[in-house]
Amino acid sequence: MGWPAAQSRSPFIHGYWLKQLGIDGEYDAIELPPVDFPTFVSSLEANGFVGGNVTAPHKEAAFLLMEGCDAAAKRLQAVNTIWLRDGRLQGANTDGAGFLANLDEGAPGWDATTRHAVVLGAGGAARAVIGALLDRGVGRVDIVNRTHARAAETTALFDPRVGAHSWDALPRLLPQADLLCNATSLGMAGKDELEIDLMPLKAGALVTDLVYVPLVTRLLAAARQRGHPVVDGLGMLLHQAVPGFERWFGIRPLVTPELRALVIQNLAGKG
Ligand code: NAP
Repeated sequence: MGWPAAQSRSPFIHGYWLKQLGIDGEYDAIELPPVDFPTFVSSLEANGFVGGNVTAPHKEAAFLLMEGCDAAAKRLQAVNTIWLRDGRLQGANTDGAGFLANLDEGAPGWDATTRHAVVLGAGGAARAVIGALLDRGVGRVDIVNRTHARAAETTALFDPRVGAHSWDALPRLLPQADLLCNATSLGMAGKDELEIDLMPLKAGALVTDLVYVPLVTRLLAAARQRGHPVVDGLGMLLHQAVPGFERWFGIRPLVTPELRALVIQNLAGKG
């Protein structure tokens, strides 16, 4: 459920798992203007659905409609996964878990060496990332955002381990960073480029980007060239989908190299 939703790769991912697992089910992208969203969600069961995912701009509205939520959704006040328990709407936010699973897969052991993270961006995705980093024991997270007020609003959701900064703070934050994460929409195909100088970044720091179109963003390419380990954003998309599928269909699906390759092909328009 999104507005728009046609660009979503989720039907491709869930469709692949349904087919692989031989499950007689369907996952559709449904476009809903905000005015129609509450009625649609409240009638999920009546319309034969076992649940669904929620994307922009409905994640906050979904949170308000749930009869129960997991801890991540409560903290972020945003829901991206819905299922029914005894006919009651339950919500979760799986973006943070997807982010962690992606790093665990792409840079095993990263959390043992990450004491300080710098997160670019202060929107919904950044919030999920920050919550996940704190849950994993990262001691300090600094948010750098174009709009300082939004960064400050985001810190208010967390505790004093999270700080808010404007873009000009980057050169003094990067030398201390063990992890740098782009959670802005900059660098995405069709959007402005993310222009940052990685020279001050701590040697060996892990660099990750939530943007996955292109798969290797300019940030990741520059980081790799400077010898930093990098993790792209596609794995987060794949891993955040796992808990929903498991709730709806009762089987935990696998994120495999084959699925990743097929999604890359699909993103390139060849799927
Ligand atoms: P959002 O709530 O709209 O936030 C966008 C963020 O980008 C804000 O911090 C915004 O800064 C910043 N930004 C946008 N344009 C900018 C510009 N021209 N210059 C500087 N900063 C700019 O979006 P979101 O939901 O957090 O998503 C952020 C990105 O993460 C998107 O690219 C999305 O596709 C990606 N994402 C990926 C995954 C995945 O599975 N890999 C999951 C979720 C999201 P201001 O506050 O100053 O406007």
